[in-house]
Amino acid sequence: MSEGHSVQGTLSLVYRLQTMDLEVFRLTADMQEAADQVQVAANLVSDLEAQAVAATQELASLESRRRQIDLDLQETERLLVDGKKRQKDLKHPRDIQAYLSEMEFRRDEKDRMEEEILKNLESQDQLKKRMSEIEAELARSRHDLSVLKSEKEKENRERDEKLAALAREKMDVEQSFPEDLLKTYTRLKGSHRNGMVVARLLDGACEACRMSLPPRTVTEVKKKQKIVTCLFCQRWLFLPDRGTEGERVFQGSSEKGAAPAK
Ligand SMILES: [Zn+2]
Repeated sequence: MSEGHSVQGTLSLVYRLQTMDLEVFRLTADMQEAADQVQVAANLVSDLEAQAVAATQELASLESRRRQIDLDLQETERLLVDGKKRQKDLKHPRDIQAYLSEMEFRRDEKDRMEEEILKNLESQDQLKKRMSEIEAELARSRHDLSVLKSEKEKENRERDEKLAALAREKMDVEQSFPEDLLKTYTRLKGSHRNGMVVARLLDGACEACRMSLPPRTVTEVKKKQKIVTCLFCQRWLFLPDRGTEGERVFQGSSEKGAAPAK
């Protein structure tokens, strides 16, 4: 792929396009991450809302059970009083025995119900405490969610503007590309990890795969006579000019590949 004396210009152009593409990739990933963060906060709110509903239902069921035991207890107490009235009419030992067994059973029942009422009230107290904790947490989470949402929406609006500016700039750059070069770039972009086609030669090593290149390759790249590829990752090696367009791109891409800066 010999480009003669325009090799440097070509690589410079490709590098500029690549820098923009990586920035688009990074901005898009950041936007997705922002959306994910908002989703996590929203999930927490709905989880707490569900907990609040469940606790309210549980409290209603405890209250209803409590009313039922109250009624049962009143009935048992009435039976105990009635039984005492019947006691003096009993003559036969078998009837007396049956009566005593029944009274014992009623008294046990009464104890059991009183105990259940105490436990029920205790559970209600605990549940009310838990409910107020959930409510407090819910208020906090709703507040956090709305703060996060407006913060992330603001950030994403800014990213949207950057993306629109990049798209315009990219169109300009692509127009100055020879068509076959753009095709090659697009194809290579898809086949390389991180979408990097061009890699800078830094201290004799490839910027993308970090492998040191033989002196002969370094010399060839420095000659700028043709496109030299990295022996290890096959990316186009690029030696940016200092203080020129290459330098500007060089600085613009110092965020290292497609990894999000944050
Ligand atoms: Zn390489």
